[in-house]
Amino acid sequence: MRVLLIEDDSLIGDGLKTGLEKLGLSVDWFQDGEDGNEALFQAPYDVVVLDLGLPGMDGMEILKDWRKKGKKEPVLILTARGDVDQRIAGLDSGADDYLGKPFALKEVHARLNALIRRSNGQTAPEISCRNIRFNPQNKKVFQDGKEVLLSPKELIVLELLMMNKNKILSKQVIEDKIYSWDEEVQSNAVEVHIHNLRKKLGKDFVRTVNKIGYIMEEG
Ligand code: CA
Repeated sequence: MRVLLIEDDSLIGDGLKTGLEKLGLSVDWFQDGEDGNEALFQAPYDVVVLDLGLPGMDGMEILKDWRKKGKKEPVLILTARGDVDQRIAGLDSGADDYLGKPFALKEVHARLNALIRRSNGQTAPEISCRNIRFNPQNKKVFQDGKEVLLSPKELIVLELLMMNKNKILSKQVIEDKIYSWDEEVQSNAVEVHIHNLRKKLGKDFVRTVNKIGYIMEEG
């Protein structure tokens, strides 16, 4: 899952980027409002973390601009703690959730997972497809009731496939979702992850479609 983070405070931004990446998300971080505003139009993000006070363009303006242009990505705004007016204004402008500073990384992560789930029409905390169950919150994977250990990137690929079960995902879409801009991507990275996942989950857990993509099918 790919996160767009717009936060000018270096400490908070760095902490969020590092922390969320350790938890298996890929994060593109912008400190300038205008750059962050533009970024949403350049890559397929699953969720946005948006600070309100920003240089260049403030968070509320950014949010209004996106919603006006029809961008529907879920947005979690970061507000000053206890500032009720800011929260209400944010939600009125199309934010999906808010969090007051200071916050715990765990809480940001939980909220982001909930937003991603909801935007995918997934209301149950667990996703399942045939004999595989995945919990996006604690990143645990079970096959026939037995836990399967996956690497962080394998987890992202599996989560993506399960969130989009019964739909074909192209290699390009998967690649765009699993790597942020600051990571080097090898040309066969997606194939390698799928190959490793097949070793762990059995080769039939996913079907290759005409060399262009992959699908996880129910039934
Ligand atoms: Ca700020």
